[in-house]
Amino acid sequence: MSEVCPSHDPTPLVVARDDASDERRTVLRVVKSPARARRLLLCLDGVPFDVVTEAKSRGLFDNFNAPARLLSPFPTLTNVALAQMLSATVPNGYESLYFDREAKELRGGVRKYIGRRTPDKIPSSYMDELDYQEPLAFEFLIYVATEAVWKTDMRRFRERFLAAPPARDFFGFLKATDGLLHIGGPRRLSVALESLDKLLREIQREAGAETEIVLFSDHGMNLEENRRLHLQTHLRRSGYEIVNHMHRPRGRARVAAPAFGLCGYAALYCGDETDRGELAGALADLEGVDFSVYREEGDDESAVVTGARGRAVIRRLQRGGATLYRYEQQTGDPLNLDGVARALEEEGKFDAEGFAADADWLALTSKHEYPDALANLYESVHAPRVRHTADVLVSLRDGFYYGANVFSRMVRLLATHGNALRASSTAFLMSTHRDFPTHVRSTEARPLLRD
Ligand SMILES: [Zn+2]
Repeated sequence: MSEVCPSHDPTPLVVARDDASDERRTVLRVVKSPARARRLLLCLDGVPFDVVTEAKSRGLFDNFNAPARLLSPFPTLTNVALAQMLSATVPNGYESLYFDREAKELRGGVRKYIGRRTPDKIPSSYMDELDYQEPLAFEFLIYVATEAVWKTDMRRFRERFLAAPPARDFFGFLKATDGLLHIGGPRRLSVALESLDKLLREIQREAGAETEIVLFSDHGMNLEENRRLHLQTHLRRSGYEIVNHMHRPRGRARVAAPAFGLCGYAALYCGDETDRGELAGALADLEGVDFSVYREEGDDESAVVTGARGRAVIRRLQRGGATLYRYEQQTGDPLNLDGVARALEEEGKFDAEGFAADADWLALTSKHEYPDALANLYESVHAPRVRHTADVLVSLRDGFYYGANVFSRMVRLLATHGNALRASSTAFLMSTHRDFPTHVRSTEARPLLRD
């Protein structure tokens, strides 16, 4: 198997088979009203905002208006992001190998998904809206025949779009861009974007200029070579037992740490008697760990962020229909928000207890090192971004990944995503017909994409 990334999860590929459940799709798809022009919605897996901005500066995609920063939720992974952006059902886990909290064991992985598609293999309902994604075989070929796979993928997408009923919107998902970046780096992707630019111009000529094209990505990517984080070795040295199930209570220091795609985060699940804070503390000094975030047991209004740069509590407050956040620095400044807090202070945005409105924090952090830091990280351990939320989510520094040994032995990873840093968190969204706000949260994307 040659997967390196959750975007290259076999689950969606099984779904993509030609004959897969067209009946079901027909039932679920909403036929658009003729009140506006037809829309071609195309998602490019893993293409960062900065890469598209740079491509536009070279004259590519100049038939598109300026791109918005589409803020991808942490951890920055395809199924997590697209489920939020399309307001779809949440996936079971962050990747296809996950820890099931009720069954208290690891579930999924590669083998489970080989074979025909069945409803229990659909990670999220956004899949039902896709009119095109690459066929199964491509998934495994992308790393050996990159150029050929990309070209065939684009050709098939074009054929499928032009053959689709012209009165209806079309939603395509090109996943090869993610693999191109992971394995080939930005130079390889930049060549691919030139061919995509050409293809989209042809499509617009054939479909008519009134057809709106909306291009977006699910998450971004750091563009540097990444090396492995020795998370399990470190935890074992710190006295933890790494387990695949927790069927029987046993020992104070048990952790499940599903390792799959080679991405910049780790999702940790604690045994009943294992303390989340202690676990996060044990990781603070490990090289490559940026910070860990967790929810204190029974506390629905705060999230603790701790790492080598210090420890802070993100506290949330609902007041009169509005959401407010407070950033309590206990030691240091783990999210580097000192400057933002000073600016909010100068603008008089804090109330007597040090809370500021969610919208005020967002306005000053959409381009921050950790975009939309407070709401994004608070919600990563509170909001149901996946069904089986981790007890401790670890965000790695750019340049590091955690994942399955078997994959990491096979590839040199020239780029990856998954952490809460800007490069991975900043996807893009642009249209040939509409202007979008400068930044858009993933949870606010659906009306811009589909309605
Ligand atoms: Zn990826």
